[in-house]
Amino acid sequence: MNQYIHELEELDKKHFLHPTSPIQQQQQHGPSFIFTKGEGVMLEDIKGYKVIDGMSSLWNVNIGHGREEMGKVALEQMSKLAFSSCFATFSNEPAIKLAAKLADVAPGHLSATFFTSGGSESNDTAYKLARHYWILKGLPKKKKIITRTKSYHGVAMGATSATGLKPFRDFTNSLAPDFHYVENTSSEALRQMIELEGPDTIAAFVAEPVQGAGGVHIAPDNYFKEVRDICDEYNLLMITDEVITGFGRTGTYFGIEHYDVVPDMMCFAKGVTSGYAQLGGVMISERMHQDFAKHSTGTLLHGYTYSGHPMACSVALKNLEIIESENLIDRAKQMGAEMLAGFKALQKSQSIVGEVRALGLMGAIELVKDQDTNERFQEPVAPLVVAEAAKRGLVIRSVVFDGQDTLVMAPPLVINKEEINQMITILAETISAVEITYK
Ligand code: PLP
Repeated sequence: MNQYIHELEELDKKHFLHPTSPIQQQQQHGPSFIFTKGEGVMLEDIKGYKVIDGMSSLWNVNIGHGREEMGKVALEQMSKLAFSSCFATFSNEPAIKLAAKLADVAPGHLSATFFTSGGSESNDTAYKLARHYWILKGLPKKKKIITRTKSYHGVAMGATSATGLKPFRDFTNSLAPDFHYVENTSSEALRQMIELEGPDTIAAFVAEPVQGAGGVHIAPDNYFKEVRDICDEYNLLMITDEVITGFGRTGTYFGIEHYDVVPDMMCFAKGVTSGYAQLGGVMISERMHQDFAKHSTGTLLHGYTYSGHPMACSVALKNLEIIESENLIDRAKQMGAEMLAGFKALQKSQSIVGEVRALGLMGAIELVKDQDTNERFQEPVAPLVVAEAAKRGLVIRSVVFDGQDTLVMAPPLVINKEEINQMITILAETISAVEITYK
């Protein structure tokens, strides 16, 4: 077995270019885990080492790992019809049923879905559909997209260009034009930017209801209502990116529901299948849908081979059934409150824990040198905490963009109180260990 593991590690080093990974570390040490099994909130690697998946892997495994019923549905659909196209008005049963189900559960008038294979494709699709919409409305100059600093919208060319976190944009030296970045949670800054750029040049404003990869930033209560009013006042489309916040993560079906606002377009992915298949999409309002049908004489020239993939859609339908029948949205709310209470206890017991926050099961802990002044460490310590936590059986993530020193967490929605307590205990031990070294 040891020889087999060693061989796999060497093959990984030689042949596997990992997504969003420190390449030198991987080249020197190989993969940090080769996971082979998952059950509930737990992951197990090839050496039999078990960890709590404190991130739901990539904020997506909402119903937890190892759900055999998901595999059964995928097998049934693949055996019947593995693939057929949705181009040229062809359709399939799971895609139709999922589009109808989404119209049922989505906020307000969001009523029609364009399917993709993930979040980046969904965002690129949203920007293209928004711009196409204004062409159809006879306003082709409306093409700029305003996004927020600290936002993350994915890595396709449009999604990278929309991403406010600068290191992702600096990775490449040429981006898509017409993206502008506005200060994170200031509706006044948005108004100023619209005035400066000219509303007749702006297609849409896009925002994550809670910023995930940027460090779990929760908007002030009135922010999105003000944003909605501004979008209406200046005739721009409002797009929400619910790729992380959709499907129960924050304790509501969709994150924007906390703010009692309905966007014109909504991107989703991740939690729609809980990672059991690759699927995303963009929902558009009934009004936009009607306008597309009314004003368009040609073909909607945008489509991915896997738009409306029958197996992925059948898996999504089962996933939504599980989320609803097991009350996982309420559970996210309740367990999220437990998690936040745990964070607050850490704030009392650990001298390097600064601000803590959570909305449902999406949470963050800021690390500080001094709790009173909020002074940061010269070098961020969050990556050390993450590495130490993994050794103690908990996988979480650090965010160090923009001078942040933050731990973020988003465990599966099936997590129970005991498992939350286990996470908090591991965090306390880990933070204590790091604190001793660094204070
Ligand atoms: N949008 C948000 C808010 C995300 O968090 C992510 C991924 O983390 C994406 C878009 C990109 O999704 P994908 O990685 O499926 O392309």
